[in-house]
Amino acid sequence: MPTSTPYSAWIDSLSFLLLTRSDAVVPQDHRVGVSGACAPLQHFRDRNYGSHVMTIDLLRLHTRQLSACRRCHSAGFPVAGFPVSPARSEDIPTLLSRKARILVVGQAPGRTEATGTQPFIGAAGRTLFTWFARAGIDEAGLRSSALIVAVTRCYPGPSATGRGDRVPTRIEASLCRPWLEHERSLLRPSLIIPIGQLAIHAMTGRTVLSEVIGTTIDSGGTTCIPLPHPSGASAWTYGLGNRDRLEAALHLISEWWNDNVGAESPSGSAVTCSDNPEGRSTR
Ligand code: SF4
Repeated sequence: MPTSTPYSAWIDSLSFLLLTRSDAVVPQDHRVGVSGACAPLQHFRDRNYGSHVMTIDLLRLHTRQLSACRRCHSAGFPVAGFPVSPARSEDIPTLLSRKARILVVGQAPGRTEATGTQPFIGAAGRTLFTWFARAGIDEAGLRSSALIVAVTRCYPGPSATGRGDRVPTRIEASLCRPWLEHERSLLRPSLIIPIGQLAIHAMTGRTVLSEVIGTTIDSGGTTCIPLPHPSGASAWTYGLGNRDRLEAALHLISEWWNDNVGAESPSGSAVTCSDNPEGRSTR
């Protein structure tokens, strides 16, 4: 992991200084132990102290700090393993070089992700990337354009029924929320794709999937196109009319990709969403 650049060493030093100052200097809610994010460093970034390179190193610093988080363990929740990183360190410069950046927000890692290095590498991920392929976006293209995060970052363990994984509690979601907020502030995404009810609620405040899947909605000033959860434990896609809603959502993502990423990157060729040529845009 390339962690020895002069900037990252400087940022680590700055972080250490900021986090060890008294509360009178660094507000309590800006300290890593409470917020999980280096909000004071955001201030320096916003003052244009070498914004691009600094953002790369802030995001790398963020992933290192995230990987050490044990808040839910300390609070007694039955989470397992370590947090799943939202991006590989070597992929961060490419991701941040994009003008059109995407924030994909899942629910929580599954057992496979908890033992791996990337989000969505298990069965649900395979289904998700099949959906994106229908929108004309391959897995490599999405991973190089999107920060793939989740409402919570540690494997929550199996559900009590044995079907699928345990859904993280609201308390776990709120303990993990500062990581998500910090990623959003660093990435400044132009598109957010929340996946599943927990992520949709976290990003939009909406909870009824049939009302939002297949539509474009606002998330704090950012375009948001929700998708259902691809887990086999979710029965939503089999409900009346829901396959059409899913295809409409993929069509919207395909349109957005062609208008933004496809136009920006020579390798991001324009595509059509052939499964739903009529689309169902509600924009
Ligand atoms: S789920 Fe989030 S807040 Fe909880 S221990 Fe993992 S990274 Fe930390």
